[in-house]
Amino acid sequence: MKNKVLGIIGGGQLGRMTALAAAKLGIECHVYDPDPNAPAFQVCFKSYINDYEDLDAIKQFAKKIDVALYEFENIPLKSAQIIEELCLLRPSSFVLSISQDRLVEKNFLINKAKVQTAKFYECNSHDDLVNAKKLIKGQAVLKTRRFGYDGKGQIKIDLDTDLLEAWKSIGSDELILEEFIPFKRELSIIIARDQNNKVQLYDTVENKHKNHILDQTIAPAPGISNKVSQLARDIAISIANEIDLIGILAIELFELNNGGLVVNEIAPRPHNSGHWTMDGCFTDQFEQAVRAAIGINLGSTERLFDVVMQNLIGDDIYLADNLINDPNCRVHKYGKKEIRPGRKMGHVNHIIR
Ligand code: AMP
Repeated sequence: MKNKVLGIIGGGQLGRMTALAAAKLGIECHVYDPDPNAPAFQVCFKSYINDYEDLDAIKQFAKKIDVALYEFENIPLKSAQIIEELCLLRPSSFVLSISQDRLVEKNFLINKAKVQTAKFYECNSHDDLVNAKKLIKGQAVLKTRRFGYDGKGQIKIDLDTDLLEAWKSIGSDELILEEFIPFKRELSIIIARDQNNKVQLYDTVENKHKNHILDQTIAPAPGISNKVSQLARDIAISIANEIDLIGILAIELFELNNGGLVVNEIAPRPHNSGHWTMDGCFTDQFEQAVRAAIGINLGSTERLFDVVMQNLIGDDIYLADNLINDPNCRVHKYGKKEIRPGRKMGHVNHIIR
């Protein structure tokens, strides 16, 4: 059988690790990213260095591939739709349209997938914000609907926060105000779903953040009860079925003290909290995304090892030279030339034997 050619939209570390997983299956990868230094360009068959808005370049890319996936959500919907007209896009542009706008996403989650989210209100003006704050009463989080990541595009609203200042400083007038969830801890689960609607789920993991950036993932989530674990799986299956997922989807969750789970957000792509699967599972999240896109059966998500995944952020990357000698550590470097504070440079999977 002739292998399909895979297009990867976005050449960051997620695109790079996807290309490496695809290469193991003998699949040719074409990567599209405006940054000539994108890490995935080092490991792919063909690079396209163009803006995501450049529709002619997008068409050229789409004509050369059989199927595309994306490694981040902030590509223009129009570009994704053009790709979808010329080849397969998995997950679809419909999935992308939901995940790239927090308001659309939250409405989808509660009305269609019927899962629990934080209470939220659309805010398009300072007046909307004042009204929403009255309805929420307690602490809240003001978030931009689009382009937020790693805590960017959000402001915590305490009881004494000056709402006009917050409104002015966030730099967008398409916002939502969410109730603040006093969670016990943050969890996530990754689900894969194929073209025949078959699903595979990875174990639910615990995520710890530093400076709003994921610092550590503990897999599986320590002490997670069967009930919470089953609830996470049920939530993931509801969302994946309702969204008609072909690909993989990460679901970020808040665990409450009473054992409830609140969905924070979804990401239809490989996720930082799934990096542990590279050394902990029979089939990792990147290979799974490739399998779903290409249209071959999903692999087993069986956990072979417990893992603590530690992100190497900024100067942490210098630790990699020592960690690489530790027989219980698997080091992954992203090949980024410039070290910057807050930049994800690599990660290490500590295998717990
Ligand atoms: P997000 O950009 O939505 O993933 O949010 C980044 C981080 O902010 C989350 O991982 C949480 O730690 C925190 N956060 C976001 N929304 C809420 C919320 N409604 N209540 C409490 N913490 C939140």
